[in-house]
Amino acid sequence: MSVRNGRPALAMPGPTTVPDEVLAAMHRPAVDIYGSELVGVTDSCLADLKTLFGTRGRTYIYIANGHGAWEAALSNVMSRGEKVLVLESGRFAIGWGEMATMLGIEVEVLDGRPRRAFDPAVLEARLRADTAGEIKAVLVVQVDTASSVVNDIAALRRAIDAAGHDALFMVDAIASLGTMPFEMDVWGIDVAVTGSQKGLMSPPGLGFVAAQGKAGEAHARAGLRTRYWDWTAREGEAHYMKYCGTPPVHMLFGLRKALDMILAEGLDHVFARHAILAATTRAAVERWSEGQVLSFNITEAAERSNSVTTVRVEGDAAGRLLRWCEEECGVTLGIAIGDLAGKGFRIAHMGHVNAPMMLGTLGVIESGLLALGIPHGEGGIAAAAAHLGGTLGA
Ligand SMILES: *Cc1c(COP(=O)(O)O)cnc(C)c1O
Repeated sequence: MSVRNGRPALAMPGPTTVPDEVLAAMHRPAVDIYGSELVGVTDSCLADLKTLFGTRGRTYIYIANGHGAWEAALSNVMSRGEKVLVLESGRFAIGWGEMATMLGIEVEVLDGRPRRAFDPAVLEARLRADTAGEIKAVLVVQVDTASSVVNDIAALRRAIDAAGHDALFMVDAIASLGTMPFEMDVWGIDVAVTGSQKGLMSPPGLGFVAAQGKAGEAHARAGLRTRYWDWTAREGEAHYMKYCGTPPVHMLFGLRKALDMILAEGLDHVFARHAILAATTRAAVERWSEGQVLSFNITEAAERSNSVTTVRVEGDAAGRLLRWCEEECGVTLGIAIGDLAGKGFRIAHMGHVNAPMMLGTLGVIESGLLALGIPHGEGGIAAAAAHLGGTLGA
């Protein structure tokens, strides 16, 4: 007997739940791609993306997923044979590095601490040792969606400065933009990337890149520029060229609505909502962990992200739990990926999420733990409710 009929719940860390308002905004005929309405949508989206990235630099919209944004970022500032330093803290920075390798860039991976955020002191030491200045860019992820760690981007910037190194600082904010503070200019980030389908509550298919600081000079000498990704080609007046071809009309209508919703709520409020719902989730996981089978993947509490929580499951119960939640209750959790494949699950709390969605998801997980006889500490839901009630107050 399943109780999954009704509205399905998507609790995987991307794509995330798209608000009905965003879907409705897309449900209209195509428009003139040269007309002032669409040009206005492009201009306002580019401007609002600057607000989200925290930059007065430039922003670009690509018809691409996050992988496309990765390639766009690299190809605009790098040349074949140059070296980048990838800071390992899960799966995604490694993936960005693999993309760099395929572009003919030399990649050095700096190992992180298992189940922890990247240590800024390790970055500083490595850059100090690079007296010849061979490292042209440092690549890091703010929130690694596989491990669910959050890296301290401001601290990593201070490490680069302390080493007196002039490498570009390139940050993947795909799972974090719109869920937690991001201050591109203040933190001295030269290039940042994100995508439409995580914190930005839009359908997958748009990739965004922001550039400031030393990115412009690097772009001027970059040898990997190609016609489609090239920033310069997209900077002309012609609207058509901002997309190197036909604009993604309906995606832009959806994005426009999503940005309106985020800005109407207010970024500070959006970040606080994510922080509260993430802590509510962690309150339940903390309790379940007392059963010695479930545990947080990230060992340091302060290094757990507000976008997603990765839970480890000893033994082989993770697959059964994921299936039970989906088939019996209509809740789709994230599978564990990378080294953790088959050994856990991920709970997304990112984008268009609220209290009933999170409490509902947590309630289904706890029901699944009970139904499948997976040992766990009791009272996860009570702990989550207590946290939420206690935080929100009267
Ligand atoms: C999802 C994600 C990506 C990849 O994005 P795609 O749209 O799947 O290509 C890259 N980095 C991070 C941190 C992500 O969460």
